[in-house]
Amino acid sequence: MTIVAGIDIGSTTAKCVLLDGTSVVGRSLHPVGVELVKDAEQALEKALEAAHLTREEVAFVTGTGYGRFKVSFGQLVVTEIGCHAKGAHFLFPETRLVLDIGGQDTKAIRINGKGEVVDFAMNDKCAAGTGRFLDVCAGALGFDVAELGPAALQARHPVKVTSTCTVFAESEVTSYLSRGKEPRDIVAGLHESIVSRSMSLLQRVGIEPQLTFTGGVSRNEGMVRTLVRRTQLPVNVSPLSQYIGAIGAALFGTERVAGRSA
Ligand code: ADP
Repeated sequence: MTIVAGIDIGSTTAKCVLLDGTSVVGRSLHPVGVELVKDAEQALEKALEAAHLTREEVAFVTGTGYGRFKVSFGQLVVTEIGCHAKGAHFLFPETRLVLDIGGQDTKAIRINGKGEVVDFAMNDKCAAGTGRFLDVCAGALGFDVAELGPAALQARHPVKVTSTCTVFAESEVTSYLSRGKEPRDIVAGLHESIVSRSMSLLQRVGIEPQLTFTGGVSRNEGMVRTLVRRTQLPVNVSPLSQYIGAIGAALFGTERVAGRSA
């Protein structure tokens, strides 16, 4: 048994995965605050607890995500683009295109048959088209983010959200509400808006037949359905989708450990 850890420090959530070979033996989600080193340690501790393992049993730790350099107790850091590519290929070996929608950025990544990055495109600095856009608008609607997907699936007459800026979109949501529009129809409009932005990123890297959706927003069934309808592609989503960056990080660790003992 060789246990390796992958820790993905994102803008909203730290994700930790413990891998034993090709098996995920432990995982955790931990909200990110201001002390990122502490958050990374707590994410690891939570995953160890879930797996009934101790810190001494972990042979290698890899950090990824925007806060990857805060995994200061680890042995390796890898960009989240490389990790999402590797993690997506691990779960879905046939995939050649990855869409990662997280809390503050959206990335389209084209990969090869070995799970290596061929090309990528990401949103500009603005939060439109990311999880943050949904989080802010969910707040304006009085919804929890987990309620957005189910609400969108009930939509009858989706509204058109025209604002490309998160702050203006929030006002647009409030304005639609005051005009008596159904919250579910507004949510569906928000999903359409995010998928439109994602489509242009996917087109920039080149559409490939099998798409894998990763990041926390892939937990939203309404987003998945909208993406399938707009791309007309089979879209892979795993219950581990939010962990794919952490899985990729752990896999880089497994390779390093194997290289050391070879
Ligand atoms: P980051 O790495 O930037 O922290 P994640 O990939 O972890 O981002 O995704 C965070 C986003 O996922 C949140 O902003 C939120 O919009 C979305 N999200 C998290 N949990 C859920 C859920 N249960 N249902 C729908 N969306 C969710």
